[in-house]
Amino acid sequence: MNIVVQKYGGTSIENIEKIQNIAKKIVSKKQKGEGLVVVLSAMGKTTDELIQLAKQISPTPKSRELDLLMSTGEQISISLMSIALQELGYESIALTGFQAGIQTQGYYTKSRIQDIDIKTIKTYVQEGKIVVVAGFQGINEVGAITTLGRGGSDTTAVALAAKLECACEIYTDVDGIYTVDPRLVPTAKKLDYISYEEMLEMSSLGSGVMETRAVEMGQKYNVPIYVALSHEEWPGTYIKEYDATMESKIITGMSVSDKDLMVTLYCVPYHIKNISMIFQEISQKDINVDMISQTAPLNGVVNVSFTVPKEDENVILEIIGELQKNWTNMKADIQKDITKLSVVGIGMRSQSGVAAKMFEILAENNIEFKQVTTSEIKISYAISTKDQQKAIESIIKEFDL
Ligand code: ADP
Ligand code: ASP
Ligand code: MG
Repeated sequence: MNIVVQKYGGTSIENIEKIQNIAKKIVSKKQKGEGLVVVLSAMGKTTDELIQLAKQISPTPKSRELDLLMSTGEQISISLMSIALQELGYESIALTGFQAGIQTQGYYTKSRIQDIDIKTIKTYVQEGKIVVVAGFQGINEVGAITTLGRGGSDTTAVALAAKLECACEIYTDVDGIYTVDPRLVPTAKKLDYISYEEMLEMSSLGSGVMETRAVEMGQKYNVPIYVALSHEEWPGTYIKEYDATMESKIITGMSVSDKDLMVTLYCVPYHIKNISMIFQEISQKDINVDMISQTAPLNGVVNVSFTVPKEDENVILEIIGELQKNWTNMKADIQKDITKLSVVGIGMRSQSGVAAKMFEILAENNIEFKQVTTSEIKISYAISTKDQQKAIESIIKEFDL
């Protein structure tokens, strides 16, 4: 039997009517004889609401309990979807991450899928049941429920497709991947195809349409991913390995993120071990550092700047406090009104001049940048949020995005 994994995001199932409509869509696929594994997010903004409930009691709830709480959102949606499918006369079964055999490891609230024992799911699919799996969750080595980080249902879906060696369809509230988030730039263009590599850069740089780890996993296991609109039949975007049939533009897309803050540490005693210690402390807390810069040593001290996710601010403040116990002259500054703009494109590998063009655009529009990083296929700039709109408009015009 040909199996397909389909994933539906929160907006697509935010109320009972939408759940019933999606159930009809699932059933029409089932009628074509496909084995179906359906992964769901929590309904609408449920995950945010659950976090808010916990925060009414404590500003810093223990992450084990927070995970247990957040995981209930997906249990609601899978149960309701399974009931809706059964009401349409189809056999289905709802499974939590644990029941589906999803084993996790690592930190609570951002754990990773270690493995999936696929036996249970396979058995139910072979029996002809539609299997509805809770996204975003699994069970760790000590038997606690953990979650995979926000947006993690995408990862559940791609991981299941990798294990089942089948394709993965991600259904959402946008009809595919655009050159830029269409909410920010309504004139953005839809892409028919995008390579894993480019999508990976775009996701990790803030294009929230696909969760980064999901794309990473798709690339590693070569899972064909199709992103499309949940409530209508309309051509979407394929994410796949780059091949010559894909249109080659220098810049494929642009990501915009206001999810990072910039930390500057002033007067860090200059020694290579000190710099490495700062970043080791941060990485031990599983915090992702993106942009890094350092001034030249002067009078035995340097200033170090880096960007980290805003959600990790409290942990960063703790780390700074610890460092200041030893480095009493060190001062820290945190800037939150930072936007990271990144242009991404495989074409940059073979064509030079993109960085020069970007510097020219920023200079012509009088936009100061605070940090720059590059890789083979992307260039990112951290700028002031007040300049975001001007920068986006001039970049999309220049690169025809
Ligand atoms: P879901 O709840 O289905 O997981 P998400 O909100 O996580 O949906 O992702 C869909 C959203 O991603 C869209 O509404 C869109 O605003 C945003 N988005 C960001 N960048 C892009 C892009 N390049 N192309 C399409 N959508 C994008
Ligand atoms: N419900 C989770 C979240 O809101 C997971 C997901 O939507 O993918 O982050
Ligand atoms: Mg999502």
